[in-house]
Amino acid sequence: MPTPASCFFLLLLQLSLLLPTSCSDHSWNYKSESPNGPSHWQLGCKGNQQSPINIPSTGLASVTSSHLDFSHYDLEPAKAILRNNGHTVKLSTEAATPEKTPVLSGGGLPHSYKFSQVHFHWGAEDGKGSEHLIGDTAYPMEMHLVHYKATHGNIKDALAEGAYDSLAVLGFFFQVSEEPNPTLAVLLPHLDEIKKAETETVSSIFPISDLLTGDMTSFYRYNGSLTTPGCNEIVQWTVVKDPVPVSMDQMNAFRQLQTKESEPLVDNFRPAQQLGDRQVLDVTTAQLLIKGSHTFSPADRVRGSMVMLVVVMVRMVRMVSL
Ligand SMILES: [Zn+2]
Repeated sequence: MPTPASCFFLLLLQLSLLLPTSCSDHSWNYKSESPNGPSHWQLGCKGNQQSPINIPSTGLASVTSSHLDFSHYDLEPAKAILRNNGHTVKLSTEAATPEKTPVLSGGGLPHSYKFSQVHFHWGAEDGKGSEHLIGDTAYPMEMHLVHYKATHGNIKDALAEGAYDSLAVLGFFFQVSEEPNPTLAVLLPHLDEIKKAETETVSSIFPISDLLTGDMTSFYRYNGSLTTPGCNEIVQWTVVKDPVPVSMDQMNAFRQLQTKESEPLVDNFRPAQQLGDRQVLDVTTAQLLIKGSHTFSPADRVRGSMVMLVVVMVRMVRMVSL
C-alpha cells in the first residue's frame, strides 16, 4: 500500500493515463453528475491552456508546413501490451532496441518526439465520443498517439520537465462507415480478453504505421494539456482533420469494455475546455512519408522555417498583447 506521502507525490506527477498508479485512478471519473467528475478535477485541471477544445471551423490562421515525418513507425515492435485501465484501452509497445523506437518530427513541431502509447476515447452512441470537437461537432471516437520529447530517456522524465512542449499527441477522429477499419480489426479480438478493468493481454504485433491510415497532410495545431488529471499543460496537439473509418460492430466492441465499477466503459471523453487567448493553427503540408528515415529536401526546410517564423511571430504578438 502506498503511504500518504508517496501517494501525494504520485498525484503531483499525475501519470494516471500515461502510466499506471495505485492511488489516483479511483479518484476521478467522466460522470458529469459525480463529485469526482470532470468539473471537479483538481491539480492542474483548472488552468487556462487545457485540452480538449472545440476547434473553431472558421477564422483560423492557415499555415503551410513541412510534412509530418514518421521514422521507424514501419518497424514491428518487440512487444505490445493492450490494457483496460478502467478509463480507456491503451496499447503500449516496446521497440526491439532503443534506436528502433518510432520518432515523430516535422509538421512544424518544435522537436522530435518518441512514441509511447496509443489509446482511445469513445461514446455510448455515435453522436459523441471524441474529445476534440470541430465547430461543435463530435465524432464517435478519437485515438491519441502519445509521444515524449526525444531528448528524454522515458516519458516520466518528459513529464517531470513540464515544459509546454514536453509531449506531442497526435489525435485522429473516427467516422462510422460500412467498411471495418483494418488495423482495429487486428486489435479488436483482444478486447474480449480485457473486458474487466485493470486487465491486460499481449497483443498481436504490428507496426504503428498501420494505425496511420488517413490523410495527414491537413491538421490543427495548438498548445494544450493532458485530458486526464492532473491535466499537465505540456502537450503540442496535432489533431488530424480527415476522419478514419470504423464500422458499427467495431464501435460496439469498445462499448463492451467495463469500468472498475463493472459499468460499461463509454463516454470516456473530457468536455471541451475554454480556448481562451490561444491560437489554433490550420496546417497544411505538402507531402507525407511514413516509411523509414527521411531527409528533408531544401524546399521542406524553407517551408519548415517559414512555419516556425509564423509561430514565433504569433507568440510574440500574444506576449505583447498580454
Ligand atoms: Zn487521450
